[in-house]
Amino acid sequence: KLDTRIQEQSSDELGSLARAINDLAADLKRINEQRREFFANISHELRTPMTYLKGYAKVLREGLWKTEEEKNQYLNIIENEATRLTYLVNDLFDLAQMDEGRFTLQIKNVQLDELIKLILDKTSYKAGQKGIELRFSHEASSSEDTVIMGDPLRIEQALLNMIENAIRYTDSGKIDVSLLAAQKHVEITIQDTGMGIDKEELPYIFERFYRVEKSRSREFGGTGLGLSIVKQLIELHGGTIEVESTVGKGTVFTITLLRSIDAQGVDLF
Ligand code: ADP
Repeated sequence: KLDTRIQEQSSDELGSLARAINDLAADLKRINEQRREFFANISHELRTPMTYLKGYAKVLREGLWKTEEEKNQYLNIIENEATRLTYLVNDLFDLAQMDEGRFTLQIKNVQLDELIKLILDKTSYKAGQKGIELRFSHEASSSEDTVIMGDPLRIEQALLNMIENAIRYTDSGKIDVSLLAAQKHVEITIQDTGMGIDKEELPYIFERFYRVEKSRSREFGGTGLGLSIVKQLIELHGGTIEVESTVGKGTVFTITLLRSIDAQGVDLF
């Protein structure tokens, strides 16, 4: 039915009504298609780890391994796939709550420089394993300048995701995280020397389940939902996120968040 178009010849009210209805029908059609695609993606993303879990559980139950090392390898796969499922379910739960408008933030004063240091501590091991240098620079006259209003757990989730992405899509080199305090907001940049993203693909990377062709392979991990959630989290905080990238050179993500008006009595996290 959505494919039927009303004749729009006349330039009077009837004609513009017809155009409005046609536009609405086109919007509905697009939304329907996106919905269908979204659910097809979910079933695919859920089915793949399940297949691995079942397969390797069977191999282990039937004793189809030759060495202890091989057995441990299979156990590792099972553990990784179970972790992937957990992440996916958590991501889907967040998205569902956001879509329903039921996503709530526990807003506090957050000392951003401390929070970023904590995230870098958490990620330094992974970066080190890949030979990546992880650096943090911080320009503010005092620590108080980097206090923002936000949900500390959600801000941590967003920034952790960004830094994990930077590590994931960088082979070796460095990741620079910087924090800059302006009058009303703070600016966080996460700059990597990784594979970069093609210009044509850039507009889509914040879409759900979108992955750049090269990173489709499972070895990268990730659910394809990370950036879509980060964007929504940042926007729910009244902030913005932007990206610039050059293939083969690297990527810079810039996030802005509102500074706290009252930085006294920092609640921390
Ligand atoms: P994923 O879980 O696949 O990482 P995201 O939503 O976090 O999904 O990111 C979407 C896609 O954007 C990724 O699959 C990857 O292709 C690309 N991408 C994200 N961050 C970077 C980065 N720092 N460098 C290069 N490509 C990136």
